[in-house]
Amino acid sequence: MANHKTHYEDCDILVVGGGMAGTGATFEARHWGRDMKIICVEKANIDRSGAVAQGLYAINCYMGMQWGENQPEDHVRYARNDLMGMVREDLGYDMARHVDSTVHMFDEWGLPMMKNEKTGRYLREGKWQIMIHGESYKPIVAEAAKKSADKIYNRIMITHLLMDEAQDNRIGGAVGFNMRTGDFHVFRAKAVIVAAGGASHIFKPRSVGEGMGRTWYAPWSNGSAYALPIAAGAKMTQMENRIVLCRFKDGYGPVGAYFLHLKTYTQNANGENYEKKWYEQTKELVGEYIDHHPTPTCLRNHAFIQEVAAGGGPIHMVTTEAFQDPHLETVGWENFLGMTVGQAVVWASQNIDPKYTNPELTTSEPYVMGSHATCSGAWVSGPEDLSPPEYFWGYNRMLTIEGLFGAGDTVGGSAHKFSSGSFTEGRLAAKAAVKYIEDKKADGIKVSDKQCEDFKKAVYKPLENYTIGRNEITGGTVSPSYISPIQGLQRLQKIMDEYVGGITSNYMTNGNMLKRGLELLDWLQEDLENIGAEDYHQLMRAWELKHRALTSQCVTEHTLFREETRWPGYYYRGDHMKLDDENWHCLTVSRRDPQTGKFTLEKVPVYHIVDENEKKKAS
Ligand SMILES: Cc1cc2nc3c(=O)[nH]c(=O)nc-3n(C[C@H](O)[C@H](O)[C@H](O)COP(=O)(O)OP(=O)(O)OC[C@H]3O[C@@H](n4cnc5c(N)ncnc54)[C@H](O)[C@@H]3O)c2cc1C
Repeated sequence: MANHKTHYEDCDILVVGGGMAGTGATFEARHWGRDMKIICVEKANIDRSGAVAQGLYAINCYMGMQWGENQPEDHVRYARNDLMGMVREDLGYDMARHVDSTVHMFDEWGLPMMKNEKTGRYLREGKWQIMIHGESYKPIVAEAAKKSADKIYNRIMITHLLMDEAQDNRIGGAVGFNMRTGDFHVFRAKAVIVAAGGASHIFKPRSVGEGMGRTWYAPWSNGSAYALPIAAGAKMTQMENRIVLCRFKDGYGPVGAYFLHLKTYTQNANGENYEKKWYEQTKELVGEYIDHHPTPTCLRNHAFIQEVAAGGGPIHMVTTEAFQDPHLETVGWENFLGMTVGQAVVWASQNIDPKYTNPELTTSEPYVMGSHATCSGAWVSGPEDLSPPEYFWGYNRMLTIEGLFGAGDTVGGSAHKFSSGSFTEGRLAAKAAVKYIEDKKADGIKVSDKQCEDFKKAVYKPLENYTIGRNEITGGTVSPSYISPIQGLQRLQKIMDEYVGGITSNYMTNGNMLKRGLELLDWLQEDLENIGAEDYHQLMRAWELKHRALTSQCVTEHTLFREETRWPGYYYRGDHMKLDDENWHCLTVSRRDPQTGKFTLEKVPVYHIVDENEKKKAS
C-alpha cells in the first residue's frame, strides 16, 4: 500500500460525522474542553451533509418550557406511547430537559424562526414542532462547529474504530480514507463520539432502476453509526425497531405540516375514513394500545397497509379543501421548497395540483435510525441523576466500550429527538467525553502501528481486488472474481426485503425466514471480501455497503430474537402476530463478538421512570 500516503493526527476528542449530532458535539466539546484538541471528520462536506443537508421546515422537538407549553415528562410520555412502551426514559428525559436551550442558540445564530403574530412565541406546527425557514439550517450549525473545532476534515470516510492495546475494551481512535485524494488517515484519540447518522438502502427501496436514490431517509446515510461500534464489540439495542414512513408517493414529501398545520386528512379510494375500519382488528393484535392518544405511528401505518392489502387503495391526502385558502396553499408548497424540492417536481411531472387533485400517499421501505419515531442504536449509559443501575456506567452517552460515545441516530432507546434533540444529544455526549478525559480515564492509551497498518490493508483491498480481477474480464463488465458495490447493494436489499420484512412481503417475516436471511447475509459478507472498487468513489461505496451489511445482520438477529409483533405497521412476525407484554415488555440488547462474529442477545428491563417518580412523590 506504499502508494497511499498515511497521515497521523493525535487529538483529545474525535467526532465522527458532522451532521446534527456531530456539530452539536463539536460545539459543546470546545465549551467544556477549552484547551483540548477537537477534531471532526465528515464523509461529505459539513456545510451540506447528513439528513438536514437540504434544510428542514420545522424543528420537531421543542418543549417551550419558558412559556409552560410542555415539560420533559410530557415528552417522555409521548415517546413512550408512540414506541408502544419501549423507550429509555432516562435518555429521553435528559434530552428533553436540555433541548430548548439548543433551539434558543439556533435562534441567536440566525436561523429564521417563524413567530406567532399574536403571542410572539415560536409558531407551533403541532404540540412538539415549531416552524422555521430552514433552508440554511445545516450551514448555520456547521459554522458553529467550524468555529469550535481545531480542524474539520471533509471527504473522509471513517471505516474502522481503533482499540487501545494497553487496556481491554477502551477506544483508541479511528481510521478512514479521503475519497478525493485516496490518502489514509489515522486519528488517535482519547475519546471518540460517533455521530454518523442512520441507515437507508438496507431494504430494497420502492424506487429502483432509474428512480434509485429517491428514498425518504438520506440515501448517503449508510449505517456507519451502527457498523463502527458493532464491529468493535459494543452493545446495541432495539435494532429490530426499523421505521416505515407514510409519505407522499414517489417524492417522499413530508406530511407533518399537512396534517398538523393545514389540517388535511386521509381517505381511501372510496372517500372513506379507513382507519376506523381497522380498529377492532388492530385491537385484537395490540389490545388497549390502539386506544392511546395520539395513535402510535406504527398503528396508523398498520391501518394503511391493511386497507391497501384489502383493495381499498390508493390512499389519498385530502388537500383540495385546505388549498382553497391561499395562505395554506402557499404553506403547502413552501413546505417542500425548503426541504424536499423533489416532491414538487414529482407532482408537476404527474400533473398533480393539490388544489384540485388529492395526492396519493404510500408507506416507505424500512429504515434504521435512532432519532426519529424509532429508536434503534447503541446501548449507552444514561445521566447519573436519572438512570437506574442497569442503565448507568459512569459517563452519559458512553457506549459499552470505554471512551466511545454516541449521539443522534447512533444512540438507541431514545426516539423523537429529531434535529434539535440530536444536536442536544451531541452536546451531552461531548460534555461527558471531556469529563472522561479530565478524570484521566484515557491515560496511557496505546495504538500500535501494526493495528493501523492492518486496517490500511483492509481498507484498500477492494481497489486491489478490482485491479487484479478486471484482467479476467473478456467482455462486458461482469467479473468472475469480484462483485461491484452496486451488485452487492442490490443483493443485500433483496435479502432484507424478502426475508426480513420489506415491501415485497408487505413487511411480513417469521423465524424461518429470518434464519434463512441470516444464512444469506453470512454468505454475502463472505463475498464482500471480494468486492472490487475501480476508484476512490467506488471504494467509499464498497465501505458503505460493508457497513450496511453489518447493520443488516444486527437488525435481522434482533428481529429473530423478539418473538412478538410489537409494532404492527413497522413489521410483522407472522409466527407471533400479537403484541406480548407478558414476555416482551423489555428492551433487546445484542453484542457481536469481534473475534467470532457471533451475536448474543438478551432482554433488559424497560423502566418507566417518569411515572414511577410521580407515583413515589404522590405516596
Ligand atoms: C427526510 C427527513 C426529514 C426530516 N425532517 C425533520 C424535520 O422536519 N424536523 C426535525 O427536527 N428533524 C427532521 N428529521 C430528523 C433529523 O434530520 C435527524 O434527527 C438528524 O439529522 C439526526 O442527526 P445525526 O447527526 O444523527 O445524523 P445526520 O444529521 O444525518 O448526520 C450524520 C453525519 O455523519 C456523516 N457520516 C456518515 N457516515 C460517516 C462515516 N463513515 N465517516 C464520516 N462521516 C460519516 C454523514 O455524512 C452526516 O453528515 C428528518 C430526517 C429525514 C431523513
